[in-house]
Amino acid sequence: MEKEREDRGGVKPKIVTVGDPRLRKSLSPVEFCDEVVETCDTLVMVLNELQGAGLAAPQIGIPLPVAVVEIRKTNLFPERPESPLYTFVNPKITARSKSIEDGWEGCFSVPGLMGRVPRHSAIDVEWLDKNGEMQRRHFEGYLARVVQHEIDHLSGTIFLDRMKDMSSITTVENFKRYHHEER
Ligand code: ZN
Repeated sequence: MEKEREDRGGVKPKIVTVGDPRLRKSLSPVEFCDEVVETCDTLVMVLNELQGAGLAAPQIGIPLPVAVVEIRKTNLFPERPESPLYTFVNPKITARSKSIEDGWEGCFSVPGLMGRVPRHSAIDVEWLDKNGEMQRRHFEGYLARVVQHEIDHLSGTIFLDRMKDMSSITTVENFKRYHHEER
């Protein structure tokens, strides 16, 4: 019991990395409950520590369909447009644009690597927010990319699975050195 509380509380959860079966589970929608709210709070805390754009519950070992997205400019992505904090519970993509765009992605669960991933340019999403209220929104551009990446985690899909061509795979170091200017 003590250990469990430690895992959820102050101690920083360990990031689950690729190869761990917990990243490959497809999660069904859940009833809104306290555990969901706690998971939202933990994800926001860890995302802030990691300075990432998004994080999904399976990445911290919690098998709930919950993800958070908040885009901030970073050293690696000084140009990207910022977004408010979104907390997605039971998110569902209800519409996808026909147009597809390639763009760079990385993932805390795939440490050190990045690649170019085709994604729908725009999507419509329905979800419950952290108060259990139903939300609907249209997402475009880089934000739509991050939202698709995070929702993928809830069905056990990793950005590597979405790549049509592995030749763009790069280390983060080489991304900074050679590919920084590419959109
Ligand atoms: Zn990821």
